[in-house]
Amino acid sequence: MKKKIISVAALIAVFAVVAAVIIFELDRYNVIDLDYVPKYLEVEDLGSAKQLDGRTAFVSVFLSDKYRKWDFSQERDRKKRAECFEYTRIATDWLVSQGEKYGKQIEFCYAKNENDDMLYYEGTLEDTDIYLNWADEKAIGKRAPDEWEFIDNNIDFNMIGEKYGCDNIVYHIFINNEPENRECTAFCLCAYEKALERPHELCFLPMYYEGLSLTPAVIAHETLHTFGATDLYSWDSTGVTFGTTGSFVEYCRDHLNDDIMFATMNPITGDAPTDRIDREITYMTAYFIGWNRNTPFEIDHFKVVHSQFDKKK
Ligand SMILES: [Zn+2]
Repeated sequence: MKKKIISVAALIAVFAVVAAVIIFELDRYNVIDLDYVPKYLEVEDLGSAKQLDGRTAFVSVFLSDKYRKWDFSQERDRKKRAECFEYTRIATDWLVSQGEKYGKQIEFCYAKNENDDMLYYEGTLEDTDIYLNWADEKAIGKRAPDEWEFIDNNIDFNMIGEKYGCDNIVYHIFINNEPENRECTAFCLCAYEKALERPHELCFLPMYYEGLSLTPAVIAHETLHTFGATDLYSWDSTGVTFGTTGSFVEYCRDHLNDDIMFATMNPITGDAPTDRIDREITYMTAYFIGWNRNTPFEIDHFKVVHSQFDKKK
């Protein structure tokens, strides 16, 4: 009997040693990470776009700079401006319908034409190139001093909040570039891992983006960033998109490729429609904007930073 107990104990000891060696080796080759600590954000001030809930105002700013001008005496520019209003309407309708899928009743106020005194603005940053140092200072550095100053000097954002009963304000900066200006990209300036110096969260929306014209989906994509959504198509090489990794992006390519944060064109045909949005807010983007309160397993599996709305318990 005693012999039997000893041999069982020896067997258990051998198993324990083998299991420990396997776990050690898996950790050594990064198959598992025993030291992994989930990463949470501690940003309390989420800027002018706090949470995509309740009522949100979109302020449309048609901004000229040293190189790219709006000239509304020209029929061509008036037509482009009308398209921007229409694309904004399509983007808001789509956001409302996506919200319904998650039990959210959201509302938007936005300029439907140029006669809106509160939500429509034209302006010029005479000596500025909006895209000069845009990646370093704006997209990564999260600073847009000239654009913020324009807002401070021209837009009564407190009044907009009061008049429309808005919880959020997002500024859409429409830029009149030409198709061949490929340096102009759509991007946003938003609170992520730290609060902004000024609260104004901006989307920079050029008329042409990598040779393609602006679409409602691009407006929706950039707007969702201001509410906490992260890109699912590229890994976080600049420290501004939730520490996403190459393997997370590969996973999204296989499993979440109809998400609007993965791409903005039609997922099957590759078309970029201007009269609709052919994409979805999947559970992943819903998690990042606080619509899905369950932490997807992928977040810790791929060691991505948790959503702004997923607080450390
Ligand atoms: Zn993006």
